[in-house]
Amino acid sequence: MNERYSRQILFEGIGEKGQRRLLTSRVLIVGCGALGSAQAESLARAGVGHLRIVDRDFVEATNLQRQTMFTERDAEERIPKAIAAANHIRDINSETQTEPEVADVNYSNIERLISDCDVVLDGTDNFATRYLINDACVKHGTNWIYGAAVGSYGVTMTVRPHQTACLRCIFEEAPPAASAQTCDTAGVIMPIINIVAAVQVTEALKIMTGHVEELHGALMQFDVWRNDWRKINPGEPSAECVTCAEGRFETLAPDRQDFAAVLCGRNAIQISPTHPTQINFSTLAEKLRRSGEVKFNDYLLRFRTSDFELTIFHDARSIIRGTDQITTARSIYAKYIGN
Ligand SMILES: [Zn+2]
Repeated sequence: MNERYSRQILFEGIGEKGQRRLLTSRVLIVGCGALGSAQAESLARAGVGHLRIVDRDFVEATNLQRQTMFTERDAEERIPKAIAAANHIRDINSETQTEPEVADVNYSNIERLISDCDVVLDGTDNFATRYLINDACVKHGTNWIYGAAVGSYGVTMTVRPHQTACLRCIFEEAPPAASAQTCDTAGVIMPIINIVAAVQVTEALKIMTGHVEELHGALMQFDVWRNDWRKINPGEPSAECVTCAEGRFETLAPDRQDFAAVLCGRNAIQISPTHPTQINFSTLAEKLRRSGEVKFNDYLLRFRTSDFELTIFHDARSIIRGTDQITTARSIYAKYIGN
């Protein structure tokens, strides 16, 4: 066994047997912002064999205060987060195979993404994606670990389909838009990210090494500034839950409305194409150059016009900055990219 894991092997909860299991385990990290960064680093250092990392965004300067996977250079070069994370993980642990995917997670890819994974970690910043993960994981019997943080507050819960309550057993509906605090309105400090991610990763280690009896079995809430730590009993899976009791997975059905999303903390909207497509950046740059400033690298094209900035990916997905109105963003998208 590789010497680098000796201290972890000494820990009786892991041991040689547990380490061997980690080396052949596969984890999906959905969203590689602050939580995803912390999860990815911990799991790579622990020797998890395969990390699939999915994120739709690119690195920006405002990320660097808490998203520990990224450097100033990543922000300057606007590297997609999944790619930047995979590059850094290669330096941290060359034995961990990383599979970065620059994509929006939605009904069309979630079931493929979770397939073959031993556990799924929530690194997202929105409830829509969490219900999507919950539906796919309950449908396929995959364990997943919910986590969220804003301000100095964080929450996490481990979902083992049909063994424990699922996300929808606890929260039947997502809180209405604009009702909850976001990193935009309340900010966020890094320590709460570390706490939530540490609990998520520990739970994942227990699952991967076969110690489900050690799982905390709670809805854990922490406020690291107000010194409030709570462990709430989520109860049994609800007999009325549409997801785990009735087996209805509404978020996995196609719905055009899913194709626009307000991005947390960015004054930006993401628009996805209604049909799968691939964009040639040089051709598009040629076309857009008449209307504004265009730059592109291997992963994305940036187009700046008077009031808006568009970042366009190969799959035609775009992040439109300068508005928080979906209708405005859609019309900008239609104008410059077409739909
Ligand atoms: Zn449920």
